[in-house]
Amino acid sequence: MHWALWSAPSAVIGYVLAIDLLAIGVVAASFVGVDIASGDWIRFGVLAVGSAIHIEAGREIERLRRSAAEGTPYVNLKGMWTFAGVLVLPPPLAVAIIALSFLHSWYRLRRIAPHRTVFSTSTVVLAAAAAAVCLYAINPGSDLRYAGGLVGLIAVVAAATAYWFVNYALVIGALLLSNPDSTARKVLGRLSDQFIVAGALGLGIATAALLMDQPWLTVTLLITVLGLHRSLLVGQFQFAARTDPQTGLTNTVFWHEIATKELERAQHDHTSLGVLYLDLDHFKAINDTYGHPAGDQVLKAIAAELKREIRTDDLVGRLGGEEFAILLPKTSEDETAQAAERIRRRVAALSITVTTNSGSTTVDGLTCSIGAATYPAAGDRLDVLLLAADTATYAAKNAGRNRVVTAPISNG
Ligand code: GH3
Ligand code: MG
Ligand code: MG
Repeated sequence: MHWALWSAPSAVIGYVLAIDLLAIGVVAASFVGVDIASGDWIRFGVLAVGSAIHIEAGREIERLRRSAAEGTPYVNLKGMWTFAGVLVLPPPLAVAIIALSFLHSWYRLRRIAPHRTVFSTSTVVLAAAAAAVCLYAINPGSDLRYAGGLVGLIAVVAAATAYWFVNYALVIGALLLSNPDSTARKVLGRLSDQFIVAGALGLGIATAALLMDQPWLTVTLLITVLGLHRSLLVGQFQFAARTDPQTGLTNTVFWHEIATKELERAQHDHTSLGVLYLDLDHFKAINDTYGHPAGDQVLKAIAAELKREIRTDDLVGRLGGEEFAILLPKTSEDETAQAAERIRRRVAALSITVTTNSGSTTVDGLTCSIGAATYPAAGDRLDVLLLAADTATYAAKNAGRNRVVTAPISNG
């Protein structure tokens, strides 16, 4: 979504400008009748420094995550500092924390168009305003600061919810307007991402409480969030790097990695290992008949079915296109052939509903050809086993498709 604002559809321009103007109005209103005490400046300083260190330390990870999130809401843990600001700072200083944090990220991650950073800043300013209104409505005496007791808890949870909701809804609005063809799922993003936001807000509340009572201890929260950032988000990114986005299966690189390890283990433990190579029959005809998007839906359904058929220790990966590989640890030659046969029958019995330009239709009668190879019978190296399984698939195709062929015993 590298849209230049002026070339965007007018609905998008109108929406973005309206949000930006509204945020400017909120910023102007935030200056009315405030008086800033020296303690406020200290808290402001702590939050500004914490946020800056956080951005610096996490910027490599964020650069990657940001490109991966294209077209879906991009979330991060930085909300911790801005939300803490909403809880403990007078409004103009809370706005300043938001602006500093976005300016800093923009400077560091450069490739983001300035109007997008302005828009993101605006949505967070409006989210902060909604949170402040909640705090004030529930706890009028609190002067928008952190307040103790049960009422304080209710106020803070309501504020966090408002902050999350307003920001999320405004971002979704922009994504929907600028990518009208995108799927709802993509636009809404992953649920796990929203847990990251919840975690950031929780840390923001903790930061706010410490800032009021034990300011020095906020250093421990900075260390906490940096640790979480490294482990949790890197883990999330690694998961994405191992997964084929279209089918949710293991991708070819990771499948090979695991298969190599499993083969080493089989050699060490003197057990056998099955490898299946599966190619869908006449898949091109599916695309030709129902269209490429329907073909994609079929692939996704097949992938889900393969996952359901295999055992927990087995691993199904997408090698590319409409070709899959299945790894069967601790499986003998006979068991491998039986597993292949079960999978073949299950695919053939599948009835898949797809949506095409002219409504939904059911695709059935799709079959597959499977080549099976087992360690040690068919070879003792992964490339040899894969080649044997691939050759067996080819033999299955030549023999009329919709069948399983087992690779011959290798004499090498
Ligand atoms: P065969 O029985 O010989 O395997 O016939 P086939 O039509 O399946 O032929 P082949 O395996 O050579 O071609 C695979 C086809 O699958 C070609 C390509 O258009 C289609 N395909 C590959 N990847 C995708 C994909 O991600 N989505 C869709 N919709 N189609 C794909
Ligand atoms: Mg193929
Ligand atoms: Mg094929």
